[in-house]
Amino acid sequence: MASDPQRELREIVGEVRAYLEAQRELGVEQVDVQWPESPVASPPLTLREVREELGECTRCKLHPHRTQIVFGVGDPKARLVFVGEAPGADEDAQGEPFVGRAGQLLTKIILAMGMQREDVYICNIIKCRPPGNRTPESEEILACSPFLRKQLQAIRPQFICALGGPATQTLLQTKEPISRLRGKFYDFQGIPLLPTYHPAFLLRNPYEKKTVWEDMKLLLREMGLATPRDMAIRQPGNQATGR
Ligand code: URA
Repeated sequence: MASDPQRELREIVGEVRAYLEAQRELGVEQVDVQWPESPVASPPLTLREVREELGECTRCKLHPHRTQIVFGVGDPKARLVFVGEAPGADEDAQGEPFVGRAGQLLTKIILAMGMQREDVYICNIIKCRPPGNRTPESEEILACSPFLRKQLQAIRPQFICALGGPATQTLLQTKEPISRLRGKFYDFQGIPLLPTYHPAFLLRNPYEKKTVWEDMKLLLREMGLATPRDMAIRQPGNQATGR
């Protein structure tokens, strides 16, 4: 019988879900997952090779809805990688992450940090737009996140900033809410990872911009960089407010 990768993936996800539900019924609230290391350490792929391996992906049910895959953009040797959730309509149309309203706010945050978009790398946990911009489903994240991990292995950044709950929860394998996780460093495969609120959340809750700016100042301090435009993203009417 011809192999059907999507069916196989659905079966695996079904088995994992059944196992986890059984664990929950037994009272287990949290399961630590270790990503298996390859027994023979092979050198990480380059970003170009990761993109080639992704190909014209049909690994999850999002592929018929997309205009194009939104892989990632920026410096392949960036010290800092921002990881968001999923492409929206603008990103799906342009093939670049964070170019819509939330993206423009992220760009302002990066500029306020004294960097350019080109200095960092920006990507998402999933590479195709979910219909209606809904939150990515676990099967979609399961199918796509190996490519995020390979991107991060290719870049080997010194710092990761996870934007919002889904990105943080995927990378840290936790269900803790972003409000509890943000503002502290965690370890992702030896790389310090700082979660903060997603720029789209800031568009809906502008009073939280100051919280994100505090997080970015912490990140800059850890990176050994000065904070050139303190307060820059939180002043209403300021060029860097995102409004
Ligand atoms: N929101 C995201 O999480 N990613 C994008 O690329 C755009 C908006």
